[in-house]
Amino acid sequence: MPAVCLCRSDQWGDWRWQLRSRLRTKEQLGAIIDLTPEEEHALSHPCFVVGITPYFASLMDRADPNCPIRRQVIPLAAEALGQGVTMADPLNEDGLSPVPRLIHRYPDRVVILATETCHTYCRHCTRRRRVGMAERGLTRAELEGVTAYIANHPEIRDVLISGGDPLTLANCQLERILARIRAIPHVEIVRIGTRAPVTNPYRITPDLTAMLRKYHPLWINVQFNHPKEITEESARACTALVDAGIPLGNQTVLLRGINDSTTVQKQLVHELLKLRIRPYYLYQCDLAEGIDHFRTPVARGIEIIENLRGHTSGLAVPTFVIDAPGGGGKIPVSPQYVVSQTPEKVVLRTYEGKIVEYPEPRL
Ligand SMILES: *Cc1c(COP(=O)(O)O)cnc(C)c1O
Repeated sequence: MPAVCLCRSDQWGDWRWQLRSRLRTKEQLGAIIDLTPEEEHALSHPCFVVGITPYFASLMDRADPNCPIRRQVIPLAAEALGQGVTMADPLNEDGLSPVPRLIHRYPDRVVILATETCHTYCRHCTRRRRVGMAERGLTRAELEGVTAYIANHPEIRDVLISGGDPLTLANCQLERILARIRAIPHVEIVRIGTRAPVTNPYRITPDLTAMLRKYHPLWINVQFNHPKEITEESARACTALVDAGIPLGNQTVLLRGINDSTTVQKQLVHELLKLRIRPYYLYQCDLAEGIDHFRTPVARGIEIIENLRGHTSGLAVPTFVIDAPGGGGKIPVSPQYVVSQTPEKVVLRTYEGKIVEYPEPRL
């Protein structure tokens, strides 16, 4: 296969061209960055699914193997290591799936897996057991099954469309799903989880935003992991979504060597707020097989939150969560501000470490 050259094709700004032209091989990637022997070796591994849009690839540093963009998308040999504590399905999503392509873990909300395709495959993917393997979308029969399940469960008021990346679907395919979900009276809000603004910002077209705004109240969560991902193009995509009345949240995965410092996280959340994106979750890396080398000590996440809370806008501070191994849901993990608690008073510590007392009401 000829190496795809990153000279700006006249189709560069066409999201379908970006998707079609994903860089997938050692030869294609070796033409644009100086691969290390370890990266070359990993790119020859038959089981690693690699795919990077030319746009996202253009953000990689040619010479620096520690480039935070590069480390999110170019595999390392460590992905093949079988680690004792890791699991193919760490959140037991398959066990919580009453019908194919639907995950029902919480009482009032469900996730739909709309496709297995992504614009760009993240090395840290928690659903790597299935994402990218078949690149198959939801079939008509599966959509019927998912819709019937939600319609038969009046307690479901919030539906998350995830994948893969639902924005790899054509507008008409995505609209078919949105229209069916919206037609169910007890569904109050719909959310879409996508990395398109980050990895293929050209996907956010006027046609897309015009279609999406018919399905309000609609929320979108994106995944920016590093300030280097904030570019003119990704900023334009996010602005178009917010201007269509869609509130944006961001879910960052804490990744060793990529974004596991206060400096990087603070810069990231400040850039997000400038784009009207609310930092939502900071995720402790899951126990998925092949991503052990990205894990950080839990104390690192707590320390980052400690260094943000009070020191900067409350709006900038995400909730640090660990998704419970085995499928119990997301657990917030916070710095401890309560020093002691009696029926008379609570002793607290401020963000600067000052001790204060709050007297309890007399009951
Ligand atoms: C993360 C997640 C949700 C949504 O959780 P929120 O805390 O409401 O954002 C719902 N279902 C599953 C299976 C999830 O993993």
